[in-house]
Amino acid sequence: MRAMVHTAARTPLQPAELPDPEPGDEQVLLRVRACGVCRTDLHIVDGELVRPKLPLVLGHQIVGEVVGGGSQFAPGDRVGVPWLGWTCGECRFCLAGQENLCDNARFTGYDLDGGYAELAVADERYCFSVPAGYADDQAAPLLCAGLIGFRALRLVGDAERVGLYGFGASAHIIAQVARFQGRKVFAFTSPGDLMTQDFALSLGADWAGDSLARPPELLDAALIFAPVGALVPAALKALDRGGVVVCAGIHMSDIPSFPYELLWEERQVRSVANLTRRDGEEFLEIAPRVPVRTEVHPYALENANAALDDLEHGRFRGAAVLTVAS
Ligand SMILES: [Zn+2]
Ligand SMILES: [Zn+2]
Repeated sequence: MRAMVHTAARTPLQPAELPDPEPGDEQVLLRVRACGVCRTDLHIVDGELVRPKLPLVLGHQIVGEVVGGGSQFAPGDRVGVPWLGWTCGECRFCLAGQENLCDNARFTGYDLDGGYAELAVADERYCFSVPAGYADDQAAPLLCAGLIGFRALRLVGDAERVGLYGFGASAHIIAQVARFQGRKVFAFTSPGDLMTQDFALSLGADWAGDSLARPPELLDAALIFAPVGALVPAALKALDRGGVVVCAGIHMSDIPSFPYELLWEERQVRSVANLTRRDGEEFLEIAPRVPVRTEVHPYALENANAALDDLEHGRFRGAAVLTVAS
């Protein structure tokens, strides 16, 4: 099969012809139709996440067609493969319903080969049915950008005024879900990025502005999707008493020190890590009811490096997706 392979940090992915993967117990073999490109992939290539399997096929937002293996799905079924690829089911986190924190978790496109390839294998117990009504490329960003964003949104409870810092793949999906839930959405972008601010407003945001600006109202919650630690004190400044800042990325630059006053009055700063299967099931149930519309930028598999480069430099709005066999 053709694949784009990560062989060492800070080097481009290499096109390669690999042996076709064979499904093991409880694994399905998938023909990859589309695979979303996530900022996490960029962190792996840049060496900011330091323990990938090598060589590695990246990609953890796989929309694939079952061609064999497993027992839960039939050949021809369309399934989605997320970041959470396997958990032990035995550690204290798994036993407490927090499989996202499993001691022994394996992640797709990091510990396990992912979807920047023509074929992939995945443990069927961690695969989702992809909602009908979404084209393959439009479904792909639901599987991480949407899903992790949804978990982050869930952590803010019934917060009414929600700020989204960094309006990329995740925020453009979660803005729609938050509006559907009756919340007010405040979109924060890089200073002067009027194109993205217009994009946020077109998706129903109540306000859009620069990341360091004061929103017209104080926020009950802020979700930070950009990997920029300086946004933490910026978001705290925009937060009302009792509010929470949720950092939704897997990697972030250092958070600068800030006066305790910004945290006082029961404000909180926390992160969100990975996903549980329940997050996925609930999000993929709600997405078509919103209905969430994804804006995608398709790239051929061979152009994965260009997709990563464009993501790094903010050259598109919405989400980049490799279209493999649609
Ligand atoms: Zn991701
Ligand atoms: Zn576990």
